[in-house]
Amino acid sequence: MFENLSDRLSGVFDKLTKQGALSDDDVKTALREVRVALLEADVSLPVARDFIKAVQDKATGQAVTKSITPGQQVVKIVHDELQHILTGDEDPGALKIDNPPAPILMVGLQGSGKTTTTAKLAKRLKEREGKRVLMASLDVNRPAAMEQLQILGGQIGVDTLPIVKGEDPVAIAKRAKTQAGLGGYDVYMLDTAGRLHIDQELIAQAAAVRDAVSPRETLLVVDGLTGQDAVNVAQEFDDKIGVSGVVLTRMDGDGRGGAALSMRAITGKPIRFVGVGEKLDAIETFEPDRIAGRILGMGDIVALVEKAQETIEAEQAERMMKRFQKGRFNMNDLKMQLEQMLKMGGMEGMMGMMPGAAKMGKQMAAAGMDDSILKRQIALINSMTKKERANPDLLAASRKKRIAKGAGLEVSELNKLVKQHRQMADMMKKMGKGGMLKQAMKGMF
Ligand code: GDP
Repeated sequence: MFENLSDRLSGVFDKLTKQGALSDDDVKTALREVRVALLEADVSLPVARDFIKAVQDKATGQAVTKSITPGQQVVKIVHDELQHILTGDEDPGALKIDNPPAPILMVGLQGSGKTTTTAKLAKRLKEREGKRVLMASLDVNRPAAMEQLQILGGQIGVDTLPIVKGEDPVAIAKRAKTQAGLGGYDVYMLDTAGRLHIDQELIAQAAAVRDAVSPRETLLVVDGLTGQDAVNVAQEFDDKIGVSGVVLTRMDGDGRGGAALSMRAITGKPIRFVGVGEKLDAIETFEPDRIAGRILGMGDIVALVEKAQETIEAEQAERMMKRFQKGRFNMNDLKMQLEQMLKMGGMEGMMGMMPGAAKMGKQMAAAGMDDSILKRQIALINSMTKKERANPDLLAASRKKRIAKGAGLEVSELNKLVKQHRQMADMMKKMGKGGMLKQAMKGMF
């Protein structure tokens, strides 16, 4: 899966990560090569374009982390962005099969691997979740397809609905439903007929079956080797029938993999599973972080950057804590906290984070103060000089007037802020002595 793309990208990044300093041009050149690699992997043009733009924006805005080369940092950004465009369901492998018997409708073009995938999923449900599954083929045009499902059922020890000649697909679906209910099955899977192309009749038939059983999942099986075509097929099926997820087959081949990268961005539908071989256990859930890792093949670098970022955050927190313990909690620190509060969802998010602040947050919320007060407080601090921020004791009446005016606010509001600062500084000092500060700050960074 993704070998070619992976090779191409590692070529680009090998060059990049070996360099110490990187100019904007270096990054641009590398990203141009990444874009070509994506297009060659048959990722659709708009997806590739958005991808590069997102990486570029993040790469230029990011501060360089100590002990990490700029190239390594770019690798991490590309990795995160890959993960982002691959993101699908939180739990792709969890099929909705409560309320037995739960119908699962399998749709797709002929030859996509639909029948095989039906059997693979049935086997998975049986073995991993201990479910009793009934499979039924609705392919009335091709008796061989019905027999194929029956044979696969025999191989995996899953029951298939007895074949009755001359029945139409809706009648078979209804019989499967009845049989599944009577037989105490948890799930019944309906393998619909495929065609070489999407045509009116195929869609009409799938829609009639859908309406007859109201499937809990409608899974579209598409051939991953067909690249952008797979995405187009998915889009059309979804428009006409509505699907709850996609299974990409033949991802074991040396296909270019672009379908996997474009699918979610273009159709909005998650890839739930990938088929990785002809054997009946050759199916995997589609997990973006694992796949992104596989595509880049640079797990070491990604882990390294994550570690470095964590270390720096921890160091920062440690330094701040030491100062707080000594009672050195200035306006810059307060500003950071206010910004952090905003980032964490304002007053609400702050509650419960720190014992003292939780109480304060509640009081503030009770007094009808919302996030706009945080913003006003930040504006007040911004209006102070460097010296004043470092040493709030300097804030005499004349200075206060100037500061409030600069922020376009009343002095009374500034007085509240100063009072709040003093309370927090005292609290930090007290907590620091009892070792509670360390505990409280763990949640903050
Ligand atoms: P259907 O017409 O959509 O029902 O397709 P089938 O299930 O009959 O599959 C067509 C062929 O593709 C069979 O030979 C399968 O073994 C093969 N196949 C299905 N899924 C995969 C896969 O993930 N990888 C590989 N290599 N072959 C697959």
